[in-house]
Amino acid sequence: MPHTVTLIPGDGTGPELVEAARRVLEATGVELEWDYQEAGIKAFEREGTPLPEAVLESIRRNKVALKGPMTTQLGKGFRSANVALRQKLDLYVNLRPARSYAGVRSRYEGLDLLVVRENTEGLYSGVEHWVGKDAAETIRIITRRGCDRVIRFAFEYARANGRQKITAVHKANVLKLTGGLFLEVFYQIAEDYPDIRAEERIVDNMCMQLVQKPELYDVMVCPNLFGDIVSDLCAGLVGGLGLAPGANIGDGLAVFEPVHGSAPKYAGQNKVNPTATIFSGIMMLRHLGEVGAAERAQRAVEEVIAEGKSVTYDLKPTRDDPTAVGTAEMADAIIEKMKV
Ligand code: NAD
Repeated sequence: MPHTVTLIPGDGTGPELVEAARRVLEATGVELEWDYQEAGIKAFEREGTPLPEAVLESIRRNKVALKGPMTTQLGKGFRSANVALRQKLDLYVNLRPARSYAGVRSRYEGLDLLVVRENTEGLYSGVEHWVGKDAAETIRIITRRGCDRVIRFAFEYARANGRQKITAVHKANVLKLTGGLFLEVFYQIAEDYPDIRAEERIVDNMCMQLVQKPELYDVMVCPNLFGDIVSDLCAGLVGGLGLAPGANIGDGLAVFEPVHGSAPKYAGQNKVNPTATIFSGIMMLRHLGEVGAAERAQRAVEEVIAEGKSVTYDLKPTRDDPTAVGTAEMADAIIEKMKV
């Protein structure tokens, strides 16, 4: 029986990246049936909403989706469709791994970090208003239930995947109530997992420590905004956003997407790195139980990156390297590798 998967190309560079990932996933031999759905700017122009109800219905029906990035206007316009999708489907965990790969030029080697980000509340709750003309307020909502489910997921995931330590990232010194609640729940849950080391870092110190000695860290569990920032930082430590995949997970539903945004200045140029979207697709294969295919595809991507020949500009020694290939050609090289 084929797996039916909702496929959301998104906008900006999304469609070309999702197309590259689709081809690689199909080349593993796993039977996949795609339920194409339009969301983002094009859906907004056509239907007046960037997230039509049909997209949500499709994901609820198929239980799994692969999604490209979607653009959100800064400081105005419609609310982020990415955030709305996570909230409407209650995808409360955002899993964002950052690993070092041979052949990628970065300042560190041998890193294997995992950010587990709360994905539905915090400063992304969407409760914002003007206070008169010259002040504005955004409310940070943290609930015991919201903390409990993401922190418990982090400990369960750590135990199931042989991870040793979880660091809670917070700002409870200043945000005494919301930060304090997050930390209180963290230490309560940690008591149920004596096999996993539990520690905490204030978010500003966490960022400094990650830059100075990232090898000391393993899994980090974060409230929404801190997780968003720390995961981009971790992507930077291992070679950039072109390599960072992600999964949004709820009870019985999962949407896989790269950490990066729509990089609109490169849209339609067949230029940006498809790896983050392909790795997101590989996470999806594992989720679907297709572990052998996931491993084959993972090996093929790693080999192409290690050879450094058929890779996009961001993985070359200089940004204007004339031997850089395009998005589609990097996917072709990965597909060729799987045939060997
Ligand atoms: P971005 O992640 O789109 O791009 C930042 C920079 O990272 C790019 O200029 C590029 O240099 C690099 N980059 C990103 N993806 C890359 C890739 N695949 N290969 C190589 N380099 C890559 O971030 P931004 O410019 O801050 O945001 C652009 C838009 O994306 C905004 O509208 C934002 O709201 C949206 N966004 C969407 C998502 C999502 O869909 N989940 C996530 C983040 C941002």
